[in-house]
Amino acid sequence: MEKKLFKFSAAQCAVFFDFDNTIASCDVLDNILPLFSSNKHWIELEKLWQEGKIGSLKCLYGQLKGVRITKKALNEYLSGIKIDPCFDRLVSFLKERRVKTAVLSDNFDYILKNILKRHSIKGLKVYSNKLEFSKDRLIPQFPYQAKKCRICAHCKTKNLLANSFKNSIIIYVGDGRSDICPAKYADIVFAKDSLLEYCIKNKLNYLPYKNLNDVYGFLKRSLNGNKTGNKACSK
Ligand SMILES: [Mg+2]
Ligand SMILES: [Zn+2]
Repeated sequence: MEKKLFKFSAAQCAVFFDFDNTIASCDVLDNILPLFSSNKHWIELEKLWQEGKIGSLKCLYGQLKGVRITKKALNEYLSGIKIDPCFDRLVSFLKERRVKTAVLSDNFDYILKNILKRHSIKGLKVYSNKLEFSKDRLIPQFPYQAKKCRICAHCKTKNLLANSFKNSIIIYVGDGRSDICPAKYADIVFAKDSLLEYCIKNKLNYLPYKNLNDVYGFLKRSLNGNKTGNKACSK
């Protein structure tokens, strides 16, 4: 990771996290599809989405239409999902320092709440799409779509801007296509995987990261008046 020195106050900064493959150790929805889809239509949709030919709303809507899973089976699947071992400590650190923090996800409220609760992560602002159950079907709702945005179902930019001030140092941590839209509005972008590729290709500023311990270390170094030392996350 680049050791470029940033210094800013906790009050100045706002930190936003993507969920899948950033907080969660995998893409939770992507793993549901091969296991619980009633047909193979999701594969074609995924391809079109990855190629940027359709937005995530169309992709998610079509993919969930083919999923057959009961709430019980979904809960069971979600119980096996791991999160980044440093996230808990990072959230506590941000809370202590009263840094504005939110999760911006193109996944669904039920899934996120379930996983975060299971890992005892509390009091975190979470913005996502919404999910309802109808027997073995998942019914999606997209309350945060933006007409102008052709990428996101949950347009993360909307909630990123609503949760920051004009002069905020906006920090965004993500990994994928749904992070491209908000990353453009961030001052510091932590990028990995396809978000990293996008940043490189489009000459956007970014800091590469492997896991949230890198973000934790950066914030500890960068927030003024920090007294918590420099120990890396050992969990
Ligand atoms: Mg992601
Ligand atoms: Zn957007």
